[in-house]
Amino acid sequence: MRTLIRGGTVVNSGGPFPADVLVDGETIAAVAAPGLFTDADTVIDATGRYVLPGGIDAHTHMEMPFGGTSSSDTFATGTAAAAWGGTTTIIDFAVQAKGASLLATLDRWHEKAGGHCAVDYSFHMIVSDVNDTSLKEMESCVAAGVNSFKMFMAYPGVFYATDGEILRAMTKARETGAMVMMHAENGIAIDQLVAQALADGRTDPVHHSLTRPPELEGEATHRAIALAAVTGAPLYIVHLSSRHALDAVTAARDSGQNVFAETCPQYLFLSIEDMARPDFEGAKFVCSPPLRPADHQLDLWRGLRTNDLSVVSTDHCPFCFAGQKELGRGDFSRIPNGMPGVEHRMDLLHQGVVRGEISLSRWVEISATTPARMFGLYPRKGVVAPGSDADLVVYDPTATQVLSAATHHMNVDYSAYEGMELVGRVETVLSRGSVVVADGAFHGREGHGRFLDRDLCQYLR
Ligand SMILES: [Zn+2]
Repeated sequence: MRTLIRGGTVVNSGGPFPADVLVDGETIAAVAAPGLFTDADTVIDATGRYVLPGGIDAHTHMEMPFGGTSSSDTFATGTAAAAWGGTTTIIDFAVQAKGASLLATLDRWHEKAGGHCAVDYSFHMIVSDVNDTSLKEMESCVAAGVNSFKMFMAYPGVFYATDGEILRAMTKARETGAMVMMHAENGIAIDQLVAQALADGRTDPVHHSLTRPPELEGEATHRAIALAAVTGAPLYIVHLSSRHALDAVTAARDSGQNVFAETCPQYLFLSIEDMARPDFEGAKFVCSPPLRPADHQLDLWRGLRTNDLSVVSTDHCPFCFAGQKELGRGDFSRIPNGMPGVEHRMDLLHQGVVRGEISLSRWVEISATTPARMFGLYPRKGVVAPGSDADLVVYDPTATQVLSAATHHMNVDYSAYEGMELVGRVETVLSRGSVVVADGAFHGREGHGRFLDRDLCQYLR
């Protein structure tokens, strides 16, 4: 089965160029001068369109248990929504419960995702219980293709790790070549601010942000970087939201340390103003770290240009407003933390191109190529090149669309971007050579997606 994508502009991280893309089975057979190939079983006309490598969302939480409930997208619904938005690979988080084994946790997540994903998927491992057994098991996880371990300086009593535990896990990461991913917020101090706010009767959603000030993200980021420097482990700061944290990352990178960071669309497009919306609507925007005052957005866009921020992931962790976010009425600390977004990352970042914040090739780099290299998937993923998986997006850069819960495909009853008008939209999506989205319809299949056994980070010296 040969598919020819004809007449488009291929956009790789190295820049755009006119080319036809020939797909044979599940892989790209050729990227050739326009018109060189004419013979194929199927022809997709990409005239006036971009042809991109499928997006890679390196931070999602499908059906994740949190605060007595579960995120509302399953692996089936969440990966279908991802495909609609031009994302053809997700890396989700297996979550170790206190006392559980890492390997049993990994098995559990394979059961949850296996046979259900519409696009390819992989896992990071959340380590919430550092002990001799789990440290030893990190080696087995690496051998099983899961070589990135997320730890938390936030959420005392749940996922929180002490500095000593972080140091031990980083030492193991250094030995195995694995990456430590860090949720960097000072959870001990935050818990005190939360308790004070609730005692004072400050219970509205906006206080979720006010009790998690950017100084405490900056402090934790700096501390994580120091622990990484002492142990020699590579470090990846997840969902960086503030200039305070960005400053710490920038200084570490300037010094030559193996420190990397991602931000998320919500920190680039939304702000604390959204959390202050009346009638509890601010709960829709509760995630951690929280949305910041809008002036932080300028710094984050700058960080994306300078590569101090090298990846944009979504931290997709949807909870319905009805019945889930509402658990926190009268007490913001009980609002499930997380926002939907897996479907809109590529389109939202394209607005950065439209506005002149980032270049066309940088758009592809931060949403596909760098996540592939960061998490050991390149060149199988993240590039339009012969031999790579035929994960391809035909993108119409001039079409317009309005985001809305009425039309999105995520299993959640609101959109964080309701009514936002965007320029550009995904037209056709292929996952390993199969058309999964075309002509405004979903042609994918639950279970088409395969688990990706990942190599180590390709940025390390
Ligand atoms: Zn997350």
